[in-house]
Amino acid sequence: MNVVGHKKQWNFLKDRFEQGQLSHAYLFAGPSEVGKKKFALDFIKLINCIGEKCKGKGTCKNCKMVEGLSHPDLLMVEAKDNSEIQISQIRQVQQFLSLKPYYSSFKVVLIDEAEKMNQEAQSCFLKTLEEPKGNTILILISSKPETLLTTIFSRCQVIKFFNISRKEIQDYFIEKGLPTKQAETIASISEGKLGRAIKLLDKDGLEKEKEALNEIIKVCGSDIASKFQYVKNLPEESFSKSLSIIKRYLRHLLFLKLQINDLSYLSEVSDKFKTMSIIKINRALKLTEKIDFQILTTNASQKLALEILLLEI
Ligand SMILES: [Zn+2]
Repeated sequence: MNVVGHKKQWNFLKDRFEQGQLSHAYLFAGPSEVGKKKFALDFIKLINCIGEKCKGKGTCKNCKMVEGLSHPDLLMVEAKDNSEIQISQIRQVQQFLSLKPYYSSFKVVLIDEAEKMNQEAQSCFLKTLEEPKGNTILILISSKPETLLTTIFSRCQVIKFFNISRKEIQDYFIEKGLPTKQAETIASISEGKLGRAIKLLDKDGLEKEKEALNEIIKVCGSDIASKFQYVKNLPEESFSKSLSIIKRYLRHLLFLKLQINDLSYLSEVSDKFKTMSIIKINRALKLTEKIDFQILTTNASQKLALEILLLEI
């Protein structure tokens, strides 16, 4: 099986499937980019596989269509252009579920970043959850499940995900044919997040990550006026991205301090590393978590929050 990490979750669901006891709705909850979506697609392959030899391994026609998101019995819902998931998209879900499966045993709806459903969409989705139809399975994926309506939460079986080990990621990429050294680097930067690792390998993902980190390192090392200028020039849609890069940067610093990571690819980290104490890094990290939560749950000013954070670093 090509599932990477998350073995407990996999065995649990596989067992339910084999017993014919799958739930109508699942919530895959856990940190972002740990491979929840890949896991969900592997699971959908398993339950809708038609190849006798394939057994969900991805070689049959059905599995290939799931992989390419072109399977007629699979509907993937996601926020377009990083905005919200709208009620119109949930109406499409209802329309999709009203038809019988074409090729497979199950009709499956996958909602990625389910927390991005706006209030209207969530209320509408609740109705779908309340009236399960035949062989349909709804899978919600979320790294912020606490922001979903509790009524949605309580109607889904929650499967929790966690970061996976660096070694599991490394082995996965070596098996895929990546040179050992590169697999090591990717595993090291991705911090147990398979989704991120896959993105890093995508086109010039690694270069982009280095660029983004180096830019943040430069900002963090600059004077107050430059920090304010950086925040002022930052487009609103880039705030959360910037915040997560800062978070990654701080984690890299922490790993360096604790000597559990070799990040020699980031030349400028070393200077900052010498001056920042573990306590200070930890404090800044906690602050990023707090800001992340505040931005999501209140109308807190993102600009102000980011300024405060940059002053801390
Ligand atoms: Zn198959």
